[in-house]
Amino acid sequence: MSVDKVLIVEDEVKLARFVELELKHEGYEVFVANDGRDGLDKFYDEKPDIVLLDLMLPELSGIEVCRRIRKNSNVPIIMLTAKGETIDKVLGLDSGADDYITKPFAIEEVLARMRVALKRIKTFSQNTNSVLQLKNLTIDSAKRVVKVDNDEIELTKREFELLYYLVKNKNIVITRDQILNNVWGYDYIGETNVVDVYIRYIRTKIDDKYNTKYIHTIRGVGYFAKDDE
Ligand code: CA
Repeated sequence: MSVDKVLIVEDEVKLARFVELELKHEGYEVFVANDGRDGLDKFYDEKPDIVLLDLMLPELSGIEVCRRIRKNSNVPIIMLTAKGETIDKVLGLDSGADDYITKPFAIEEVLARMRVALKRIKTFSQNTNSVLQLKNLTIDSAKRVVKVDNDEIELTKREFELLYYLVKNKNIVITRDQILNNVWGYDYIGETNVVDVYIRYIRTKIDDKYNTKYIHTIRGVGYFAKDDE
């Protein structure tokens, strides 16, 4: 069992130092960057298992750092946000963050969220050696590629995981709560319509584009991916 590596990107030096010491105490290997650019450099150098990323950073903003990391990595990213920087800003922009914590936070909360995020990515990697099929849509989870016939569809991390979850449970009605728990991976405290928003993103990219209904809505209940008409 190897030690998980954490990258903290935070420009409040005292706060960064505090979190660093706490995480080291918990047995994590910790790297710290105090601005966005250094954060990105350290990300590529150290290849952390998880990133704690402040939203407001000098050089490159947290959103931008997150977006760049997401281009070629599924590493769990937890955003650290100040009060007033709403969840919409963090997750609604689809920067690709997995979770967010509002400052000031208790270190126990950070540790708990980190455990959830790390467990989730490990479970996801273990369960994803297969190719799933729904009509003419295929999901190769190892390569993280979605295709309709031979057309490759570009999805964000969250869209991919949502589609994967629905197709894995195809022909079963899935409630919004189940989706939140399994795809967002924690007790979501924001607007629950985030699921509907992401379903709409997927439909725009797939159902509408190929003029086929892959994802069905059960009003007031949830969604399901349907195989045959
Ligand atoms: Ca900051």
